Amino acid sequence: MHRIISIATLCCLAATAQAADVHLLTAARIHTSDPARPHVEAMAWDDSGRVLAVGEAKALRAQYPDAARIDAGDATVIPGLIDAHGHLMGLGYALMQADLVGARDKAEVVARLREYEKSLPDDAWLLGNGWDQNDWPDESFPTAADLDAAFPDRPVWLDRVDGHAGWANSAAMKVVEEAMTGRTLAGDWQPDGGRILREDGEATGVFVDGAMDLVGKVLPEPDEAYRARALERALAAAAKDGLTGVHDMGVSARDLALYKRFADAGKLTLRIDAYANGDGQALANLCTDGLYRHPGGRVEMRGVKLYIDGALGSRGAALLADYSDEAGNRGLLVTDPETYEGIVRKARGCGVQVATHAIGDRGNRIVIDTYERVLGDDAKDDLRWRVEHAQIVSPEDIPRFAPLGVIASMQPTHATSDMPWAEERLGKERLSGAYAWQRFLHSGAHLALGSDFPVESPDPRLGLYAAVTRQDRDGQPPGGWLPDQRLSAAEALRGFTADAAYAGFDEKRVGKLAPGMRADFVILAEDPLAVPASRLDDLVIESTWVDGKPVYEAGKSATP
Ligand SMILES: [Zn+2]
Repeated sequence: MHRIISIATLCCLAATAQAADVHLLTAARIHTSDPARPHVEAMAWDDSGRVLAVGEAKALRAQYPDAARIDAGDATVIPGLIDAHGHLMGLGYALMQADLVGARDKAEVVARLREYEKSLPDDAWLLGNGWDQNDWPDESFPTAADLDAAFPDRPVWLDRVDGHAGWANSAAMKVVEEAMTGRTLAGDWQPDGGRILREDGEATGVFVDGAMDLVGKVLPEPDEAYRARALERALAAAAKDGLTGVHDMGVSARDLALYKRFADAGKLTLRIDAYANGDGQALANLCTDGLYRHPGGRVEMRGVKLYIDGALGSRGAALLADYSDEAGNRGLLVTDPETYEGIVRKARGCGVQVATHAIGDRGNRIVIDTYERVLGDDAKDDLRWRVEHAQIVSPEDIPRFAPLGVIASMQPTHATSDMPWAEERLGKERLSGAYAWQRFLHSGAHLALGSDFPVESPDPRLGLYAAVTRQDRDGQPPGGWLPDQRLSAAEALRGFTADAAYAGFDEKRVGKLAPGMRADFVILAEDPLAVPASRLDDLVIESTWVDGKPVYEAGKSATP
């Protein structure tokens, strides 16, 4: 049996004895991700959370005879998991809302909303997410009327499970119409990049993609207290899932200020590499004040997140040829290429790392062409620009990443979420460059892995599972989808540790367990490199540690 020293014990040992300045962890195996010394059984770190040594248990006990000992028994220790692409405040907001995932019919949705409503002030909107009409007996889209009887006055707005549609009640649509000038939701007009569902010319209550902004624009701004609670929930969720770091894509100056406050107060249990939200205030601050790093090392901002195209599900990804299931449609660019290049040049001038969302093969080509032009001879300077998603890339463009030092930042669960319909959208031939993890690895590019939470679950175990199996959680399809692109468990783990750290310029601090590195690690009941791939999604996380201190321990509730 393993035993984990409690936080209380750590604190008191440290308070009473000099000897506790060193902590010594032993376990059946420690995977260090350090090629120089990949497998050890003991690790020592100091009170500041810096790893002092890794090696054999006996040798380290002799070297640090007075260390506070932590014996993890049969457990396996891995470096802390890093999600190279997530949205932390988005996760927090989602966790603050009514959870509709798995609701089996509309009645269950309404029942969950009524229960959740009890926690709300009288004048608040009722927000929820996670509904999926495909799970209901009647698979047609719901309508405002389905919500109106239970919620005649309070505005209700519910995101669909994929985030690409929202469902409003009549009270919410009334607020939207009050904010509109010259027209109503009725008629036959449609907003850019979106669709208002209508029946006999009247809006039914469902808004798709770009049309969701009509409601988004009138939602009340969350106040700071609400935002702080949302962040606390997101941090607790991340720690519970074994995450010690996240690359937070699209962070406003206001969000960064909140993270700094949490870091100052010692409440930031996650290492955040924040990427500024486009050409806004946060990027302007980087250009005037320089790259940002909190003295405690838990928050930094040295990059910017840009967008070139939309998403594949809603046919917004920019393709070089027509969508296979919609002639004449090649998707859309959300930033015009000239404007985009201007922002990239500005970032280059400020020494800021560029990370661009590109999903379609046209979107990816524009980004790589732009990077090549802007970087020129600087491409050799280790700038580590990134392509976020790199989902459908022309096979000719894949080998262009490595020579430019460009990182492919990909999300294994996107592949398994999209596999049921990706071939319809793309046809067979284009799939050769779709979610092509092995092709990127073979080309010599760095492959950083993540989840894109809250679009997908933040749980990196699901990412490891999807990366190694390319199957859904029921094991479908047999053998995996486009199985030649599967990763080995070791490659997948590297994508969530050392290579994610590299993508954030953090490889000298995290992603590996070696002397001088931060003691960020996860204790697992079983060895992810030894269990059958089919069980990677339910590995038991016993505890999560950041800077040598536990931020999550199974059985102990930490959620505020
Ligand atoms: Zn994202």
